[in-house]
Amino acid sequence: MAKRERVAFLGLGIMGYPMAANLVRGGFEVIVWNRTPRKAEMFAGNYDVKRAGTPAEAAEASDVLITMVPDVPEVDEVLFGKHGAVEGMRRGALAIDMSTIAPEASVRFGKRLQNEGIGFLDAPVTGSRPRAEDGTLTIMAGGSEADFERALPILESMGKLIVHVGPQGHGSVVKLLNNTTAAVNALAVAEALVAARKAGVDPEKLREVMAAGSGGSAMLDLKAGPMLTHDFEPLFKLAHMLKDVRHTLTEADRLGAVMRLGRQAEEAYSRADRKGLGEQDFAAVVEVVEEAAG
Ligand code: NAP
Repeated sequence: MAKRERVAFLGLGIMGYPMAANLVRGGFEVIVWNRTPRKAEMFAGNYDVKRAGTPAEAAEASDVLITMVPDVPEVDEVLFGKHGAVEGMRRGALAIDMSTIAPEASVRFGKRLQNEGIGFLDAPVTGSRPRAEDGTLTIMAGGSEADFERALPILESMGKLIVHVGPQGHGSVVKLLNNTTAAVNALAVAEALVAARKAGVDPEKLREVMAAGSGGSAMLDLKAGPMLTHDFEPLFKLAHMLKDVRHTLTEADRLGAVMRLGRQAEEAYSRADRKGLGEQDFAAVVEVVEEAAG
């Protein structure tokens, strides 16, 4: 490549902030925008980047544009709303949405951008803030081979395992299935920990044994500790996990796929959300299990 792409990064939240930082470390010319300007100011104070006043302004100054916001309405607003990115993007530009959203929306956004001569990848990520900081995220991309190849050097500065999973929309499908499996698993871990306490077993001993055996999992490793200490500082907000499980169930209904355990997870996480735990880490689902167990 003759020259490196200029990259706009929109959405400096828990994930976006460290991901954008790794783009800068990767040597890209970066321009940032965030809905709450204070975060973008803070970012620009810490890294050598430009700051845009609107998504359109960020788009004008870039070749490739990344969105990392919560869900479908926010991606829609940032891309196509007033002063949205599309106003500033030129034909031949590439948009990469790294948020976790509904696959049908990824396909819809891809088509709308294609009509403007703009490429699109849905490229959501797994791994929470620590892996976003380390640049070791797993990234699953949906879109054309050419767009994927173009995006690869950019994605490589943020992730370790980067998989082209299929056409537009497939990145979102894979991401939702991964997260729903994680949501079910974290709920199973919460149930085991609470049941151990009821049995008078030291949950730390249970955790030690499970981690060495067939009950071990990433969710046990990452979430059993916060569940036992009730430290719910958000690495991945419970409201976002609930959103992902709900998108999965909608997609499963559309496809006629069976998701009974996903439905049980939806019930538990939505009860936790109604208890006001949405902005906490999803490990807080343990509170619902504790409440049910008296
Ligand atoms: P977050 O900390 O809540 O950050 C959300 C970002 O979106 C913030 O920059 C926020 O701006 C912006 N935003 C919210 N509403 C907006 C709107 N209407 N218009 C424009 N910008 C808006 O979320 P996060 O944890 O970084 O997650 C971002 C995405 O990554 C989500 O789809 C999530 O499911 C996914 N994800 C998260 C994790 C994780 O572990 N955290 C892991 C994998 C994937 P303000 O600063 O103004 O609020």
